[in-house]
Amino acid sequence: MSTLKTLYIFPHPDDESFGPAPVIYRQTKRGEEVYLLTLTKGGATKQRFKYNLSVEEMGAVRVQEMQDVKKVLGLTGMTILDLEDGGMAQMNPLEIEKMVSDHMAAINPDIVVTYAIHGISGHHDHLVMHAVIKRLFCDPQKDKLYPNWKRLALLTFPTPENSERDGAMAHVRTSHPKLIDCIIELNQEEQSKLREALYCYKTFTDVIESTGVIERIGSRVYFEFFNESFHPPVSELHSY
Ligand SMILES: [Zn+2]
Repeated sequence: MSTLKTLYIFPHPDDESFGPAPVIYRQTKRGEEVYLLTLTKGGATKQRFKYNLSVEEMGAVRVQEMQDVKKVLGLTGMTILDLEDGGMAQMNPLEIEKMVSDHMAAINPDIVVTYAIHGISGHHDHLVMHAVIKRLFCDPQKDKLYPNWKRLALLTFPTPENSERDGAMAHVRTSHPKLIDCIIELNQEEQSKLREALYCYKTFTDVIESTGVIERIGSRVYFEFFNESFHPPVSELHSY
């Protein structure tokens, strides 16, 4: 049996760490191949004003920080494109699609992971990313272009009870619990890898703290599977 390949596709450096990082770590530790494709260098973040950096300089810093993430998570491969951070909604989606499709054809993953339809933060680049990848998954040429691609997993959080709406969940878009198909329970080591991956983004330390992302994730990572339904949810990205 060939090694399982998972490709994570996100618009920005750090998207992989604000949630999926411990799952990536679990997969690479198990000997699976895990690839990350990031479409921008993330240079447009407001954090750049704190360090007095141009968009370009900030992008270079974040790309450097990503190299540390790659090591922490043991990524098999990482590719960072240079689309305009915050500009994906203004682009021709066919152009974005072509770049992603070429990359996917080269890797031929079994599983692709990106954001759920709401993009968690609602960032427009996240929404564009979801739309582009869902279109590729539904392409009549899919089985010819990426013959191993069987599953599209969509990162999300479940809609909490009202009492949990405050704090870390206040600005997070969520999925109705009945849409959740996979819940990955993190062990202690994986939870500490989440922290380690996030803190590779040294220029983002105050964002990590103010968003409460570590508390929000806690010990679980949630996914929807496009066009599949599991009740109860499965416990691994590759489970059926
Ligand atoms: Zn993002």
